[in-house]
Amino acid sequence: MLYEEVTASSLIKVDLAGNTIEKPDHGYSVNAAGYIIHSAVHEAREDAHCVVHTHTPAGISVSALQEGLLPLSQTAMRFHGHLAYHDYEGPAFNRGEKQRLVAHLGRHNAMILRNHGLLVCGPSISKAFNLIYWLEQACRIQVQTLSCQRPLHKAKPEVVELTAGALSGTEITLDNEAATNPPSKKTRRRLAAATACSSGPRCCARSTASTGPIRTDGFPPLVGSRPRAGGDPV
Ligand SMILES: [Zn+2]
Repeated sequence: MLYEEVTASSLIKVDLAGNTIEKPDHGYSVNAAGYIIHSAVHEAREDAHCVVHTHTPAGISVSALQEGLLPLSQTAMRFHGHLAYHDYEGPAFNRGEKQRLVAHLGRHNAMILRNHGLLVCGPSISKAFNLIYWLEQACRIQVQTLSCQRPLHKAKPEVVELTAGALSGTEITLDNEAATNPPSKKTRRRLAAATACSSGPRCCARSTASTGPIRTDGFPPLVGSRPRAGGDPV
């Protein structure tokens, strides 16, 4: 089954011991290594309601580097001191690995599985997704930076520490994305002009006809959506 074919109703539900609780009639079975890794974290961490594990090229590339994730970017600095590592032991078919895996994870919520991939956990699906998204981004940035094969500019250790402390518990959401990326001066001027216009409907109609409707999301005017002459309701 391809990833894009997976739906909620195609998932198999198992308990911590690996017993199948619910299984759709699609002919597929539980991924044993997946069960070992995910159940290990669920068993050990009551706060980890969601565990995400990925095999992305960037994540695996960084997992195979001796130095692991480097604080080369602000995105990576948020994981400084908040990232665990677990050595590769082969495909995770051995229940004995569970104990070592969770010992290495400790109280961290993000871990690099050496020569294997990435793992995060969180109290909800959204929080875990947020974390894996930024860890993946940090790995992609590192791979692209190192591929330049140019001398690196490294941030000062105290700046890395400061950034890790400031951002490690931060989620980037649509709400604080707007707060951290406020509209540009140009957009603010247009918004102010749109709300302050008191010259009557002819002024607004002329303004709108020449530039397109004013958008409040900072993007250029909508092309092809200008009012039609005569105002016909098509
Ligand atoms: Zn894996």
